[in-house]
Amino acid sequence: MYAHGFFRDTVNHSVSMSPESRNLNNHLNTCNMQLSKYSFGIGDRFAHQGEAQLRAFIMAAGEGVDITPVWNKSNREHLTVGSEPSGTRAAADAAVRNSRWNRPWFVDADHINMSNVDRYIESCDFFTIDVADYIGKKAGDDKIREFIEKFSGYTGEFRIPGIERPVSLTPEMLQATGEKFLYAAGQAAELYRYIESKKGRGNFITEVSMDEVATPQSPSELFFILGALASENIPVDTIAPKFTGRFNKGVDYEGDIRQFAPEFEQDLLVIDHAIKEFGLPENLKLSIHSGSDKFSIYPVMGGLIRKHDKGIHIKTAGTTWLEEMTGLAMAGGDALAMAAEIYCEALRRFDELCGPYEAVINIDRSRLPSEKEMSSWDGSRFASALRHDPGHPDYNPDIRQLVHVSYKIAAEKGDLFTGLLEKHRDIIGQEVTENIYQRHFRRIFDFRK
Ligand SMILES: [Zn+2]
Repeated sequence: MYAHGFFRDTVNHSVSMSPESRNLNNHLNTCNMQLSKYSFGIGDRFAHQGEAQLRAFIMAAGEGVDITPVWNKSNREHLTVGSEPSGTRAAADAAVRNSRWNRPWFVDADHINMSNVDRYIESCDFFTIDVADYIGKKAGDDKIREFIEKFSGYTGEFRIPGIERPVSLTPEMLQATGEKFLYAAGQAAELYRYIESKKGRGNFITEVSMDEVATPQSPSELFFILGALASENIPVDTIAPKFTGRFNKGVDYEGDIRQFAPEFEQDLLVIDHAIKEFGLPENLKLSIHSGSDKFSIYPVMGGLIRKHDKGIHIKTAGTTWLEEMTGLAMAGGDALAMAAEIYCEALRRFDELCGPYEAVINIDRSRLPSEKEMSSWDGSRFASALRHDPGHPDYNPDIRQLVHVSYKIAAEKGDLFTGLLEKHRDIIGQEVTENIYQRHFRRIFDFRK
């Protein structure tokens, strides 16, 4: 999947280099960086779990599935934790070095825009350009006229290979698509060109995201959005549309899988066709901002990417932090006390913590245990409420979602919290690795055993 083969060669040759020069190599690579067929976004809010995360990728490679790790952390997470993108880079580099990982890896400036891109330029080599806020804003009339002229050949009916029914497109529909998305494509282009001016073309991965909106984009809209991005000369590597259903953080998909599956499949086929029609990069692929733990649709996605021999980028949220909480609970003693204290404080600060995440969580407050009830739980009871084992009678998605958005409290505990992460690194690391490998990878990818 490395169209020019250069990046892979670079990385393979780098095996004999010192770890330091290997990292440098990843940074200074002047040829086109490419994302491999399968890539997986992981979050590490407190920058302590890189090695445990990487262990899952090493196990996957051992099973014959090559997955590229991408450490993603959004601006919101950095602001909440009080961290810097350089810290994410340093933690990723250290994990790669200590684990002797000799394949590509990336650090993703997740959901960024013009107002915050600067702090990511140096540390990141993957940029998720978020255009959600611009969808629906109208571009200038000249631009819309140009768009309509350019794509008017598609009006009437056109076929996307693999999709049975032809797409019917009236001039009005084309105009409406232009009015809805053209401005956003222009904004993506502006941000892309800014990053390119700082890093140089081909030195970073470009993702365009529009998942954080209320309405899903139809496959036909996705086709013309890609057309508009191509017109702006953006070499987009991954595109993250909004799909039907709710992708709440850290819990399973909520929606109609019978509707999701054909939508996902059509998007795969639309991307293929857009590559050919608009001359977009050959390795352009779909990115799913899964919010982690979408266990009921992971096998559907996995089946469809194998059916069509397509690549995918699956982004997860910072749920590694939930594994840290699970591990602390399991460790007992002062670690369990810390985990319980964080939960109880989260209960008291519910509105403050949930507010910013309103669109991506769905918590039934009546199912949250009170402080009193929680204080009677031992570590394994707490851990089994938090751990996403759908069949376990104690699993509680409401606790899980509340804890997911409560990392601000852990950040406030500072060294007290991170000290416990270090003290109990083995038990926590086990939870982290198992979560990625057993609960995510095995549901998506096809392992030999
Ligand atoms: Zn997203």
